[in-house]
Amino acid sequence: MDIQKQLKEVLSDLPDGVRLVAVSKFHPAEAIQTAYEAGQRIFGESREQELSAKQAQLPADIEWHFIGHLQTNKVKYIAPYIAMIHAVDTYKLLAEIDRQAAKAGRIIPCLLEIHIAQEANKYGFTFEACREMLRCEPWQSLQHVRIAGVMGMATNTDDEAQIRQEFASLRAFADELKESFFAGNADFREVSMGMSHDYRLAVAEGSTLVRVGSKIFGERIY
Ligand SMILES: *Cc1c(COP(=O)(O)O)cnc(C)c1O
Repeated sequence: MDIQKQLKEVLSDLPDGVRLVAVSKFHPAEAIQTAYEAGQRIFGESREQELSAKQAQLPADIEWHFIGHLQTNKVKYIAPYIAMIHAVDTYKLLAEIDRQAAKAGRIIPCLLEIHIAQEANKYGFTFEACREMLRCEPWQSLQHVRIAGVMGMATNTDDEAQIRQEFASLRAFADELKESFFAGNADFREVSMGMSHDYRLAVAEGSTLVRVGSKIFGERIY
């Protein structure tokens, strides 16, 4: 895999205002270093131990994004340095991030994970559960987290119309939340959607952050 060539190819597909999270999970530090040397600064990981090991040995100006399912007992390990947490799917997790960010003297940008796929086994709030959380929980009193937008994953299918419809539904939901709960809040602006096989569709439907792994780094070896 020519990482630098692949990286450039993905970046050339992204219009201004759409940022790339290079998803480096299961790939070694050297692969990240190669992308770093080509100018990439935002990297995404989904396992705390793997991330912490890489963070310790790679350049300090890397912006690390946690993109996977995060257990509350792992938050304390990443709170001192994590730049964004993409998949907040319970108020309990948001409150724990706030607690650990306070201890670290930081404010951590977080995205609310929304379940948009026609698949039963994925995490995330339904639209209604998300509205209810924002209506009922005291998230506005949390001083050390910043709700920066939403994140979602489309169904793993070849049906492009379905993928587009799911991404469009997430974009529309972000716009709804912006009006109803985050009016005048400049921090709430991200729609994190799009992976290797569907990021072009996600961009067409209004993504602001794409999370691309295998297209840049090659297939993961589990
Ligand atoms: C692994 C992962 C990605 C990247 O997937 P690719 O298909 O390798 O681009 C994006 N988002 C999440 C949440 C992931 O876990």
